Amino acid sequence: MLSTMMDFPLTIQHLFRHGRRIYGKSEVVTWTGAEPRRVSYAQLAERAERLAAALKRLGVREGDRVGTLQWNNQEHFEAYLAVPCMGAVLHTLNLRLFPDQLAYIVNHGEDKVLIVDSSLIPLLVRVKDHLKTVEHFIVAGEGDASALGDGALRYEELIAAEAPGFAWPTLDERAAAAMCYTTGTTGDPKGVVYSHRSIFLHSFGVGHAAAVPLTEKDRVLPIVPMFHAMSWGLPYVGWSCGTGFVMPGPFLQAEPLAQMIAAEKVTYAAAVPTIWNDLLRFMDQNPTDLSSLTMITCGGAAVPRALIERFQEKTGVWITQGWGMTETSPIAALSWPPRGTPEEEQAEWRAKTGRVVAGVELRITGDDGGELPWDGQAVGEIEVRGPWVTASYHRNPAPERFHDGWLRTGDVGSVDPHGFIQISDRAKDVIKSGGEWISSVEVENKIMGHPHVIEAAVIGVPDPTWDERPLACVVLKDGAPRDAAALRAFLDGTVSPWWLPERWTFVPEIPRTSVGKFDKKVLRTRYANGELEIVTLEGSARE
Ligand code: ADP
Repeated sequence: MLSTMMDFPLTIQHLFRHGRRIYGKSEVVTWTGAEPRRVSYAQLAERAERLAAALKRLGVREGDRVGTLQWNNQEHFEAYLAVPCMGAVLHTLNLRLFPDQLAYIVNHGEDKVLIVDSSLIPLLVRVKDHLKTVEHFIVAGEGDASALGDGALRYEELIAAEAPGFAWPTLDERAAAAMCYTTGTTGDPKGVVYSHRSIFLHSFGVGHAAAVPLTEKDRVLPIVPMFHAMSWGLPYVGWSCGTGFVMPGPFLQAEPLAQMIAAEKVTYAAAVPTIWNDLLRFMDQNPTDLSSLTMITCGGAAVPRALIERFQEKTGVWITQGWGMTETSPIAALSWPPRGTPEEEQAEWRAKTGRVVAGVELRITGDDGGELPWDGQAVGEIEVRGPWVTASYHRNPAPERFHDGWLRTGDVGSVDPHGFIQISDRAKDVIKSGGEWISSVEVENKIMGHPHVIEAAVIGVPDPTWDERPLACVVLKDGAPRDAAALRAFLDGTVSPWWLPERWTFVPEIPRTSVGKFDKKVLRTRYANGELEIVTLEGSARE
């Protein structure tokens, strides 16, 4: 028996109409370093209509890709709405990639038009001659565009020439709406193509009270870039709830972030751990008012417990950890503690990777592909499936990444009976010592709990006896002693004795990927090239 319900297409067009009509007065603010730019939802929606009309006039048809090389700002938001709603595909480009990777992604995605912030023209100029499919460059912002040659179009002129009231086409909810390439932390970038339906459902899933409960009263600061897994879905989630937005533009350093949170009364912000760590250090030296903040999501990499605790002490705000990947739109789990958790146990729960959200199914599998129990002990690869999880990659089916209809995440961990995941490593970062796994994530988290330590990353290095042993790479606070023995003594008793690293190195900073995660590939290469000065402590803990 079929239902009596309408077969209503789940498209971004509905979210667009809803935000505009119901929350037309909500505001999108773009930080400029001087006077912030402000626009209402109603104004932004009208500009999105004009943008769609301009793109159509330039020859953009349904299914064509429109690339964006933009910071988090108002114009990028306009493209987030206009491009998918006109049936074209928004392709967000990571502006921190090396030029050859950027060119590869634009060519592989076959972008027809590229919208670029004028401040990013120098980056585009370096790849421009290698782009095979781009027919038009559209420059947003006022800077000089002459480096792009005569053909570059000006965003404001294009949209000013159009009338509002674009006739949006009827779309299939399964049609492509947006695409995003994985950052290639552990391999070549692969394209994930989101559908209208997947974005629609993800927006509802994330806005769900058990995930990121936002309302019209919130002011959202998406620090996570709009090119990094769609800014974790926040533009669509917030727009459909009518939240205010504060778009940080290129101002991602601690000082301007602190200023915009205070000045714009931001209530909710989302970013990778390094951003919050930088903000904490800034707060040590500078009076900062973050009292408007009520909620923070932090993810993209393991969130150290020390960061959660120190942030709470300084601001009163408990960070919630999120886990996900470009392939999962990205939200798959959030670490809201279980009902009744006393204050003193909050940090412990929030330091776990998270509890899978409704809309995503999860299992862990062992080496033989068999399913492992959710007992908090068994460790295996995490696999997920659901309506906002990708089933392949753009022009690359990558069968090795899928298993009987599940996505193999490449993340290794355990799940407890409450559904809380604890990721111990990425499969490629796992340290296998004498046939047993050492969790680099757990060891580095423990090291980061030491008061002298700013950051630490642990990698596996070759060892003649044990195949691999952990090497701890540590960034110390200014003036702190380089005392590996004291750090190892601090870890003693908190992890298995044979997990304790005997090799240590002190570095000025941990190298980062294009989205601000620890880049362990670079550390491994530096070690292999003999570029790291290693302190070896006596007495291997494995014995
Ligand atoms: P890339 O794979 O190129 O780094 P993504 O942003 O898609 O780009 O990264 C997804 C990966 O980030 C996950 O598979 C996982 O390894 C890591 N990750 C995300 N959130 C967390 C978290 N809370 N704890 C540990 N790892 C995380």
